[in-house]
Amino acid sequence: MDIRSRIAALVCALGAMSGPVASVHAAEQVNIYSYRQPFLIQPVLDKFTEETGIETRVVFASKGLNERLQREGRNSPADVVLTSNTSNLTELVSKGLAQPVESEILEKNIPAQFRDPKGEWFGLTTRARLIYASKDRVKPGEITRYEDLADPKWKGRICTRSGKHPYNLSLFASMIANHGVEETRTWLEGVKANLARKPQGNDRAQVKAISEGVCDLSLGNSYYFGNMITNTEQPEQIEWAKSVNLVFPNQQDRGTHMFISGAAVTKHAPNRDNAVKLLEFLSGPGAQHLYAEMNFEFPVRPGTPRSALINQYIGDFKEDSMSLTEIGAHVPEASRLVDEVGFDF
Ligand code: FE
Repeated sequence: MDIRSRIAALVCALGAMSGPVASVHAAEQVNIYSYRQPFLIQPVLDKFTEETGIETRVVFASKGLNERLQREGRNSPADVVLTSNTSNLTELVSKGLAQPVESEILEKNIPAQFRDPKGEWFGLTTRARLIYASKDRVKPGEITRYEDLADPKWKGRICTRSGKHPYNLSLFASMIANHGVEETRTWLEGVKANLARKPQGNDRAQVKAISEGVCDLSLGNSYYFGNMITNTEQPEQIEWAKSVNLVFPNQQDRGTHMFISGAAVTKHAPNRDNAVKLLEFLSGPGAQHLYAEMNFEFPVRPGTPRSALINQYIGDFKEDSMSLTEIGAHVPEASRLVDEVGFDF
């Protein structure tokens, strides 16, 4: 136990803790607000507790945790926020709800591309945004780049979720970073003109639509393929997955768009040291494999083995190395473009 933890434990034992969460064993716990579903993270958190003795407490919600944190202010019990996309993290920073963390371990484990230069957020897994293509109606090699989605040959053949969803905004922002706003507007208009239907549903719903012949191409994250092809509880999803090939776009040039799930330490973290320990643990060799594998994501830490299933269906591919800070800077413009071209209508 380091000195700060010892002091905290002592204060705690004296019953002198103030603040709402200052429960009895503040030095031995870490409180997590998680946008990630509990079943995805609990096994790794259990391992953390086993190794460190620090208890974890998780509040899960699919949305609204940033707002909750803001409302609670300094009284918030939250030490760490776990997210499933970059935009929740950058929002935490822009609202002043995160704090910088300096850690050699985190810097070593997480490539600079996937963390905030000021240490206010860290990527823990990476995901690729792919093109899913009908096995029956799209020949291998017929589409190879995101840019191709605007080609009139795909008219009436593309399905996607809302353009305003963080997954799409991240991809569109990376298009702006590569091509500028004007060219991206033209591209987005082209993609919209090719849509088979109004944007709706989630990434998996688009693959279902491909399997039903509603469209031939969709945009979707890499891990959904793993989640579908192994889904014995909802075997229809296995059929959806079997109806598509995965296209890793832009292999001949900049590489496929990557983004992250990640974490930030909150501004007023009552258990800051434990929060940093948790992040270090999650970025470490043991947890990385487990953390990434549970949702078929890619470990952010270089050299961590990918799951057998990922290797079976995905293997190696060229990743776009652009920093998420650079991409994040273009998200507001991307959101504006989605409105301007009426993408969702
Ligand atoms: Fe997702």
